[in-house]
Amino acid sequence: MAKYTGPACRQCRREGVKLFSKGERCYTEKCALNRRSTAPGQHGAARKKIGEYGLQLREKQKAKRYYGIQEKQFRNYFAKAEVKEGVTGENLLTMIECRLDNVVFRMGLGESRRDARQLIVHGHFQVNGKKADIPSMMLKVGDVVSVKETSRKSEKIKSLVENLDNRQAPAWIAVDKENVTATVIALPKREDIDFPFEEHLIVELYSK
Ligand code: SF4
Repeated sequence: MAKYTGPACRQCRREGVKLFSKGERCYTEKCALNRRSTAPGQHGAARKKIGEYGLQLREKQKAKRYYGIQEKQFRNYFAKAEVKEGVTGENLLTMIECRLDNVVFRMGLGESRRDARQLIVHGHFQVNGKKADIPSMMLKVGDVVSVKETSRKSEKIKSLVENLDNRQAPAWIAVDKENVTATVIALPKREDIDFPFEEHLIVELYSK
């Protein structure tokens, strides 16, 4: 499936939930979902009865859009989650949480995951002192994310760093605000993920 390049807010309206793709704006009255909560399109306002398959499909789309992942990659994560020990749905979410783009966003150096991805692709980050410009890079316990020395002068990075005090990283990421680094100190647990996913629906969909 091709990469979605349309308006981010449209995806939130489709899923009926805030996916927080636009940074600050998502927390203000300007959020499109506050102003218009119906699904996009001509028949968006019509109430539709949604069946079991529809529910499962929407939950999967919601997760993909929340994390900004394409179908093929999402399926790959599912295949890995399925063979791992533990609960498949939880394995899936915690695995995705360990992506570099998510960690950069969670540490506070990205207004959204989209924003974090762009900064990574532009080469502003390192992992364990080495160049890291692939947003899907999987991090493990002990990995340290830092901002490249030359990137610290960038106005964008400077403003994000100044705002670090206003961001709360989850318990599994230790942020050193002075040195602007984040260390993965544990693997995320399901309770660390604050978004209301019903991951069992995704598992049911892919297990058909
Ligand atoms: Fe979604 Fe943010 Fe747009 Fe609101 S402002 S609809 S949360 S992307």
